[in-house]
Amino acid sequence: MAKRVYIKTYGCQMNVYDSARMAELLAPLGFTVTQTAKDADLVILNTCHIRERAAEKVYSELGKIRRMKAAKAGRGGRMIVAVAGCVAQAEGTEMMRRAACVDLVFGPQSYHRLPKLIARALRADGDRVLDTSFPVEPKFDFLPETTGPRDVATFLTVQEGCDKFCSFCVVPYTRGAEYSRPVIQVVAEARRLVRGGAREITLLGQNVNSYHGEGPDGREWRLGELIRKLAELAGLDRIRYTTSHPRDVDDELIAAHRDVPQLMPFLHLPMQSGSDHILAAMNRRHTVADYRRIVERLRSARSDLALSTDLIVGHPGESDLDHRATLDLVDEVCFAQAFSFKYSPRPGTPAASAPCQIPDDVKTQRLGELQLLLANQRRNFNAACIGRTLPVLLEKPGRHEGQLIGRSPYLQSVHVTAAAERVGEIVPALITAASANSLSASLAEVVRA
Ligand code: SAM
Ligand code: SF4
Repeated sequence: MAKRVYIKTYGCQMNVYDSARMAELLAPLGFTVTQTAKDADLVILNTCHIRERAAEKVYSELGKIRRMKAAKAGRGGRMIVAVAGCVAQAEGTEMMRRAACVDLVFGPQSYHRLPKLIARALRADGDRVLDTSFPVEPKFDFLPETTGPRDVATFLTVQEGCDKFCSFCVVPYTRGAEYSRPVIQVVAEARRLVRGGAREITLLGQNVNSYHGEGPDGREWRLGELIRKLAELAGLDRIRYTTSHPRDVDDELIAAHRDVPQLMPFLHLPMQSGSDHILAAMNRRHTVADYRRIVERLRSARSDLALSTDLIVGHPGESDLDHRATLDLVDEVCFAQAFSFKYSPRPGTPAASAPCQIPDDVKTQRLGELQLLLANQRRNFNAACIGRTLPVLLEKPGRHEGQLIGRSPYLQSVHVTAAAERVGEIVPALITAASANSLSASLAEVVRA
């Protein structure tokens, strides 16, 4: 009998990618994806541990799931509840203890074992299963080679884990050591995605530009070389990558921005702070001068490059002067988009036990100031697009009848009036209006069908 799986995804695009792979692993077992937890036979919460209250959010969701599970049992049914992802990795044992409704806990590196884990959890004797190991076998070797229709803009994980150990970050503890997939495996997956209808692929990694996968020639290939190889795929019109680390921007990557037209002129390059003192305390391994130099080099290679970034305010030890330096660097570099956060202590990370924690009201005030500046930059960037004709990849229907939503090269959402069957086309769109979060456009003629 057909079974239903409900997957709720928290956090980053890597989790979105992982959730899609989990659905593919479960399909041969007869599971189809459902959008509601209520009648699901299997519920998976794919969690994120990056910022504040991550675990509390999961426990609160589990409270609701527990009631649904009990109601289903009352109707004679059974619901398996699984927690996956980084909260599962970090707090698996505690979670098993605190949430009796949870049958299965597994970390980001063991989800390729899902069919076996589910089979154990489904046994009538009701085994509860915890798998938060870092297996020696790379999970990518065990994921199914799926075919079939794909979103026109989709993701492909090429690198996982992190060896950098920034003071504030849990990723090295939850995702484990750095691993890069071999070039042949990445190209094969990209080819399948394109065959399934993808025209844009975003290469994913916690530290995507530290990519050093084995090439077909036996050498280690860096990200720039991988991008050139992927650009040879007919039908792959747009390539992006995220999240990159300033320290790993090398000559080859900069040259790819210069030479590869499919590589979109938009780069997410986390800055975190504009103060050398705080960058050192964060163990970021680059200085403000390094960041400035990298941006200059990238902009000389590709003059229309727009940047986005991540920023943290209130890292332990951050003074008013450090904060001022961040505002100044943001002002100087100028971002088209940005994500900014109050520092949140993550258990087990060095910054969590550092002296000189910053009071919450100071963090709030600094974040407000920073976000005001970033919002202005974003508005100005969007407004400057009015009157330009940009190539827009039409991705999906909009909220209004006859409307489609697409993306500009700079990852802006663009609303256009166009027929539904044009999803998947890249069209020239004349930008007619801009708001803080999106653009409106009217269509010119079709560039490519
Ligand atoms: N690898 C990327 C890099 O090196 O910049 C960052 C990946 S992290 C998953 C995404 C963003 O979350 C970070 O860039 C940082 O700004 C934010 N972040 C991570 N830990 C945080 C913490 N403890 N408090 C606040 N923000 C945090
Ligand atoms: Fe976390 Fe990125 Fe630093 Fe790695 S490089 S520890 S993922 S912030």
